[in-house]
Amino acid sequence: MPCDVQKPCEFIHLEDGAGQAVQLLAYGARIVSLHAPDRKGHAANVVAGWSEPEAYAHDPAYLGCTVGRYANRIRGGRFDLDGEAFQTSVNVGGHTLHGGAEGFDRRAWEPEIDTANEAVTFRLVSPDGDQGFPGEVSVAVRYAWIKPGCLQIESTATTTLATPFNITNHAYFNLSGDFSQPILDHELRINADSFLPIDETLIPIGPMQSVEGTPFDFRERRRVGDRIDAPDEQLIRAGGYDHNWVLARAPGALRLAAELFHAASGRQLTIHTTEPGIQFYSGNFLDGQQTDSSGRRFAHRTGLCLETHHWPDSPNRPDYPDAILRPGHTFRSTTTLTFSNR
Ligand code: BGC
Repeated sequence: MPCDVQKPCEFIHLEDGAGQAVQLLAYGARIVSLHAPDRKGHAANVVAGWSEPEAYAHDPAYLGCTVGRYANRIRGGRFDLDGEAFQTSVNVGGHTLHGGAEGFDRRAWEPEIDTANEAVTFRLVSPDGDQGFPGEVSVAVRYAWIKPGCLQIESTATTTLATPFNITNHAYFNLSGDFSQPILDHELRINADSFLPIDETLIPIGPMQSVEGTPFDFRERRRVGDRIDAPDEQLIRAGGYDHNWVLARAPGALRLAAELFHAASGRQLTIHTTEPGIQFYSGNFLDGQQTDSSGRRFAHRTGLCLETHHWPDSPNRPDYPDAILRPGHTFRSTTTLTFSNR
């Protein structure tokens, strides 16, 4: 049972009044489903999830959740901070992924529902030493329909000791509304000129690389499937796309990060963020072991994630945007998911 007796297990339902509806769950502060209309007005669920809250206790794929305390990978779970060496929980491929074995996705967050604004704030206190990270961190993640079609995700955090901090939402999208279909026909635009190449264990290496002339060039809208199986060493290492794209920096300002379009249904998702990076993960590790809320399996590449965040392994990379939260400072991050159709 993922929720304890004090904390509600029920899904929280928020509507935008224009045909969009999202269901959220305090366990993992996650999106369980999100219905959006196609060009004919037919609403379908476009976020992978389960209809039973209990199912999330055994979710290896981070479906729809808030990942943290450090989204993405930290090499070997090791970093030095202010002269002190830290070892964090190593859970995948010899590294710390999404905060370690018991990340924020596996916590019962405290929900506060704001009915007047179709919003909910989830709160969590991550204790000093949680998964090996220093400092007690108090986190709040607020989901709100701020205008028709536009779901805002706003995160804030403070800490008692300096700590790496990086959170994001891990929704898998399939704008067809049919999670038995691969996402290869989706058209994607990423507003980035460069990306971070990775090693065989998916940790970024070397400096950022221009997307020019590579299968990573999504500056113009391209079908995800066009080049995903190209004989490119970077794609082979990840079994598809699983890389961080470098977004133009304007700290604090919302910038266009990506657009995802599904021509057959006409559904479009537009993502804006204050974050300096976006991980496009093409669902390469979905292997049919996970099923959707109707009992259908989430097979290879039937959902894709667009995770707005700080860059992977930043605690070991002084050349990357700083991802250390310090006492006296408040972490702030905003991402908007805008659904439309044409
Ligand atoms: C990562 C993948 C990882 C997946 C786990 C993504 O954010 O980029 O490498 O396998 O999360 O669901």
